[in-house]
Amino acid sequence: MAAHLASRLAGIPPTVFSEFSALAVRTGAVNLGQGFPDVDGPSSVVERAVEALRSGANQYAPGTGVPALRRAVAAHQLRHHGIELDPDTEVCVTTGATEGIAAALLALVEPGDEVLVLEPSYDSYDAMIAMAGGVRRAVTLRAPAYRLDAGALRAAVGPRTRLLLLNSPHNPTGTVLTRAELATVAAVAVEHDLLVVTDEVYEHLVFDGAADGHVPLATLPGMRERVLSLSSVGKSWSFTGWKVGWATGPAPLVAAVLAAKQWLTFTSGAPLQPAVAHALEHEHAWPQELARDLQRRRDLLLAGLRGLGLEPRTSEGTYFTVTDVEQLGWADGRAFCLGVAERAGVVAIPLQGFHGPESQDAGRHLVRWAFCKTPEVIEEGLDRLARATLTR
Ligand SMILES: *Cc1c(COP(=O)(O)O)cnc(C)c1O
Repeated sequence: MAAHLASRLAGIPPTVFSEFSALAVRTGAVNLGQGFPDVDGPSSVVERAVEALRSGANQYAPGTGVPALRRAVAAHQLRHHGIELDPDTEVCVTTGATEGIAAALLALVEPGDEVLVLEPSYDSYDAMIAMAGGVRRAVTLRAPAYRLDAGALRAAVGPRTRLLLLNSPHNPTGTVLTRAELATVAAVAVEHDLLVVTDEVYEHLVFDGAADGHVPLATLPGMRERVLSLSSVGKSWSFTGWKVGWATGPAPLVAAVLAAKQWLTFTSGAPLQPAVAHALEHEHAWPQELARDLQRRRDLLLAGLRGLGLEPRTSEGTYFTVTDVEQLGWADGRAFCLGVAERAGVVAIPLQGFHGPESQDAGRHLVRWAFCKTPEVIEEGLDRLARATLTR
């Protein structure tokens, strides 16, 4: 008997990253698609994990996370953002930010509730909103500026809107919301009594062009009690494979995350948790160094893409830049990415899957490129692109 995929999953396409990373492997392509660094994070953190593995930290950790990591997360929020937290009730360790997103949506969204996302939106949001029985409503960040349009935000809120899932620094556009844009979000949240879940996995990876740097929404007046913040070690410390993250915020919201997460994974990564605590406490300057280095790699990729006739967006943060491939005569980003994998041996990610059905036109011709790779890999990718015919 053929397996019947439950309807809550049947409408959700497989993640574009699996498809395009498999394509990169099959074609021997340079992978400028999926956002993982090709150099690991600080070795002192790896050593701490090895030590934990050897010294018996190999059984279940508490559901909320090991106390040392919860204290380190609270200290991190205070050190970098001035946010004071009780490590026992206002911090919960998660299996990457991905589980934080899943648990928050499962815990806080009733079937039929509307969830607002900035679009193009990270693909796990759409899948998890659907699994939670919620309805996705999008506020589109439109090319070429990719700024938050206050009118569009207000227009997207309706009587069923329950929650705003906010991602800044924003994957894939590289937009970092300004203090003024965040103030608009805060005003709308108060006016309509919305909860806000913030995905801040790129909180440290912000470049010179970001007007106000990264400002956590929770630090704006009146926001603390309605904001649940999510982050993780993956992007900022270059350990994307570890999947150790954290949810922070007022005790009732953190308790809601725990209510769902205890039945998802209960707990994970026991020997990695003390190592992540070490990263937050003793390698707290490392992400700023990474950001400076990433900015140089961004500039390398931007210059190369410009030389190919594309006009990439100068991202203000994250691992990514976006281009409009209509500049090379392609109306469809997916066709461009498949074509370029074959012609040039370079993989990038088409963004139409990051847009909802109502705003396909805004995303059809957009393609995301990752610069979290070594300069050699970026140069090899650019060389290959330069040798191929990229116009349609
Ligand atoms: C990578 C990423 C995540 C996933 O974070 P993990 O800690 O690896 O689960 C979540 N949100 C955004 C926007 C991301 O880019």
